[in-house]
Amino acid sequence: MVYASFRNFNYIIIHTENPYEYTQSSFRIHNGDNSVEICSYSISDNNINIQLKDKIDIKKQYRIEYSGLNINISYNDLYNSPEFNEEFFCPDELGCCYSSHKTIFRVWSPIAQSVTLQLYKNGDPYTEEIPEKIPMNEIKGLWSTEINKDIKGYFYTYAVKTYEGAEEAADPYAVAAGINGLRSAVIDLKATDPSEFKNDDYKNISNRTDAVIYEISIRDISKNQNSGIVNKGKYLGLTEENTVNSNNEPTGLNHMKELGITHVQLMPVFDISWNSIDESNPSKYNWGYDPQNFNVPEGSYATDPGDPVCRIYELKKLIQTLHKNGIGVIMDVVYNHIFSEKENNFEKIFPGYYFRKYPDGSFVKGSGCQNDTASERSMYRKFMMDSTMFWASEYHIDGFRFDLMGLHDVDTMNLIKENLDKLNKKIFLYGEGWTLDTLLPDNKKAKMSNAHKTPYIGYFNDIIRDTVKGSVFIKEDRGFISGKAGIENIIKKCAAGCINYSTELNGPFLSADQSVNYVSCHDNNTLWDKIDISCSADGQDFKKKLQEFANAIIFTSQGIPFLHSGEEFCRTKYHCDNSFNLPDNINSIDWDKKTYFHDVFKYYKGLIEIRKNHAAFRMSSAEEIRKHLYFLENTPENTVAFILKDYANNDTWKNILVIYNANRNPSIINVPYNTYYKTAGSNAAGCSVIDTITGDRIKAEPVCMSLFYTD
Ligand code: CA
Repeated sequence: MVYASFRNFNYIIIHTENPYEYTQSSFRIHNGDNSVEICSYSISDNNINIQLKDKIDIKKQYRIEYSGLNINISYNDLYNSPEFNEEFFCPDELGCCYSSHKTIFRVWSPIAQSVTLQLYKNGDPYTEEIPEKIPMNEIKGLWSTEINKDIKGYFYTYAVKTYEGAEEAADPYAVAAGINGLRSAVIDLKATDPSEFKNDDYKNISNRTDAVIYEISIRDISKNQNSGIVNKGKYLGLTEENTVNSNNEPTGLNHMKELGITHVQLMPVFDISWNSIDESNPSKYNWGYDPQNFNVPEGSYATDPGDPVCRIYELKKLIQTLHKNGIGVIMDVVYNHIFSEKENNFEKIFPGYYFRKYPDGSFVKGSGCQNDTASERSMYRKFMMDSTMFWASEYHIDGFRFDLMGLHDVDTMNLIKENLDKLNKKIFLYGEGWTLDTLLPDNKKAKMSNAHKTPYIGYFNDIIRDTVKGSVFIKEDRGFISGKAGIENIIKKCAAGCINYSTELNGPFLSADQSVNYVSCHDNNTLWDKIDISCSADGQDFKKKLQEFANAIIFTSQGIPFLHSGEEFCRTKYHCDNSFNLPDNINSIDWDKKTYFHDVFKYYKGLIEIRKNHAAFRMSSAEEIRKHLYFLENTPENTVAFILKDYANNDTWKNILVIYNANRNPSIINVPYNTYYKTAGSNAAGCSVIDTITGDRIKAEPVCMSLFYTD
């Protein structure tokens, strides 16, 4: 294969297996209209290097012809070059800027030959309407125009002509849209605030390790018949107070308060593609990990998706209600790919810029979802920074969870953090730092093994996830809790927050607040299903013990605990390990399970109570953890025991002894002589004393976490 690409505005590299088979005089380089003059020609390795006499015009497609060969010259490398950024990087505010006397539109596309603003009265493209067309003017790739009248309530698109053809696109910077997100909307953002929203404040926490994160889907949390919630599957469903299940036990918001979590992590609430969910008839289910409009809320969760203001108002109302109830809001963001390679606004407006491509022009698919975005390119990096800043400042979002963060580059992630710091609200950032096959140098990927390059960003910790309960990829695989032998040291490493605790117990994190500790989330089997499949011979009571033990390890380990909603009462998805498009009867939370598994719920509530009342479990710095946490040596097999000593992190308890006994029999642990007050054991967790033992040997109950403190 032969590939040709521009490295800057007058330098081409042709990659070929046989560079010496070509001769300079036979090359013809042209852009359709004109031939281009070559001023130097050289060969190095498998490359032919061609210097052009004049600078090229990127609004045109250039081609190389050589006997039978006729190929396009790619701009892929040029878009990464300092020369390109110097000429075309656009620091201006983009999108639609409304005021009652004037609205300004700005869109960036240096390769566009023309851009026309199209104004519509209707937000639905399936209603026939001839738009008002307003040509836009360009300065160095920035196209803009002003409308000097009040156009609130109008919808708009951009008609863009490039060498690739003509397209109509919605505005990637739009903050409002019509039904199914196909036309952007002109609105007055100031008029979308619920009353008193100005006074709504962010969730205030001192350290990220103080958080208890609870992952929810707007649809799943209220959709079930027994949720007791009126606005089922809607943003407003979680603004309803005092809702109950069939047995009068709290559900929804009421339940989250009872459980004691500090933050919700909302699964996608940005505008999900029309392809996955039809906003006019949202009968089809989808999690929504396929963004269409990044800065617009999803319409199917609004009571009127046809009204562009409604979805904004109702999402803000939800955030305000959660804040009033002391709960912070973290948004799941999916900047790593878009629902379609070609049918997306970025590609229509500036084809070839926003996505990583291989030299043959094909899209890089490390996300497993068609197209990886190019966070390293300056204008997509700017978009990610602007978009997160928009949600944080306009909607009072307290944090972001980055889907497939390992596809983004560390520099962009750090810049997003720096940018959000300007708000002075301690916005929380973490993501999925998996190692993925994308076109980015390994040392630039925002993945867990590079965590030291992003000190203020957290990572989902798959070490603790898979060690505690077994691999998510092998259904039958067991973990520490279910009897896998010889992994005590990995459990110890996790209990210490996967920091550099010692030569033997050395994890990837600089501090414990980089470790998001969990055993299950929306992906893969629920915890209950995992236990059910991997311990199929055991009875329900034993499985409940495992359900409790798994998160007892999470809540007593250093780091940030994370729960998938419903886990606290044994949520099942009937063994489906990827429910992204399965119906509500698989995905929705069955609130009557809360009554059926009330003992498990009570246990989880107790774990949260312990953690919130005892700062020893919430240390951040590696130094503090090394100083205050020590492991008891010579403990029996399948047992881990440690002491958080000397009022760790100013705890009110002097020393805290934690024992994880995964054996099906009691274990005898040798401890320093003292009087031990027990507050957690089999089926019991909390802060009040349930037993007192004086001596230097403790009999730890089987298959559970035991917790004692000393004065
Ligand atoms: Ca949508």
